[in-house]
Amino acid sequence: MAKEKQIAVLPGDGIGPEIVDEAVKVLKRVARMFGYSFTFQYGLIGGAALDETGQPLPEETLHMSQKADAVLLGAVGGPKWDDNPGDLRPEKALLGIRKALQLYANLRPAAPHEQLIHNSTLKEETVRGVDLIVVRELTGGLYFGEKKRERTEDGEVAVDTLVYHEHEIERIVRKAFEIARLRRKRVTSVDKANVLESSRLWRSVVERVAPDYPDVTLEHMLVDNCAMQLVRRPASFDVIVTENMFGDILSDEAAILTGSIGMLPSASLGDGNIGLYEPVHGSAPDIAGQGIANPIATVLSVAMMMKYSFGDEEAARAIEQAVHKVLDAGYRTADLAGDEHTTLTTAEYGDKIVDML
Ligand code: ATP
Ligand code: MG
Repeated sequence: MAKEKQIAVLPGDGIGPEIVDEAVKVLKRVARMFGYSFTFQYGLIGGAALDETGQPLPEETLHMSQKADAVLLGAVGGPKWDDNPGDLRPEKALLGIRKALQLYANLRPAAPHEQLIHNSTLKEETVRGVDLIVVRELTGGLYFGEKKRERTEDGEVAVDTLVYHEHEIERIVRKAFEIARLRRKRVTSVDKANVLESSRLWRSVVERVAPDYPDVTLEHMLVDNCAMQLVRRPASFDVIVTENMFGDILSDEAAILTGSIGMLPSASLGDGNIGLYEPVHGSAPDIAGQGIANPIATVLSVAMMMKYSFGDEEAARAIEQAVHKVLDAGYRTADLAGDEHTTLTTAEYGDKIVDML
């Protein structure tokens, strides 16, 4: 019996539709190889949804995503909608869908591909061996706390509130420990406990939860130190877990360690198996519609889908290895190509990965 899975596919804007097409190709091949029966349901999101329905996240899309086993997202946004007011911005859809699906954990792995190590902004010997994942809390903290702005006799005052509940910290920290168990079993919990009360609560929850994972090594690190160590000795990290804003900043920092923006996948997870998978990069309006976008980040996001939503590490590894082999063979998309490479279009690149599988 084939394992039946429903996948909501939300291509979005810019290069979104182009790169998502390639990831779907890969999923179809994976289905044949590993005995899955995937149903793909397409939905509108972002600017594409605004143009059709007047909403960045139509009810229908949300519904379909809630019923699916996993969501594959391209990218949203573009200059056409940049002047839209807050609620009618394409990016609003991302916050909306994460909230609705209760995806509180954002996972961003960073591991350089051997073939691209020279593309890194850091020295080769610093980047070699890097294999880390940032686990960022996604639904709490400063981004969701009460905001206020008012005029006073002293001029304007603005307030953002950083709130964390114990249970919100506990679930993300447990997620990080569980992920560490699938990896090198090291967790670095990042906070600012010397200054912030929310960080002191964070640290105490981590301490309380850690004994449940005696096989995992825990260290605490202040966020400023972590920012420094990420560029000084990035290979020493395995799993970094942290709150929303620190994670936002550190995951971008970790991303550039490994070179190209076109290579980086992400997963957003909640308590069930449902997850949302998307490339880290944006909609790249400057190259949209030209068939030159790099589909690797989206294809690797699909590998994460196999691993985290369907519990299939073998299929995940097969996809990752296919990508490696295509790189090894010297094939590149335009963003990565040097003189010695064969440059392929987005669709040709997807075909090569499928062939390699
Ligand atoms: P956002 O605001 O949505 O986070 P952004 O505008 O900051 O996104 P991107 O849309 O990621 O950034 O694009 C940044 C640069 O990287 C652009 O020049 C874009 O062409 C390039 N880029 C992004 N993704 C890819 C890709 N998959 N393949 C090739 N180039 C890419
Ligand atoms: Mg942008």
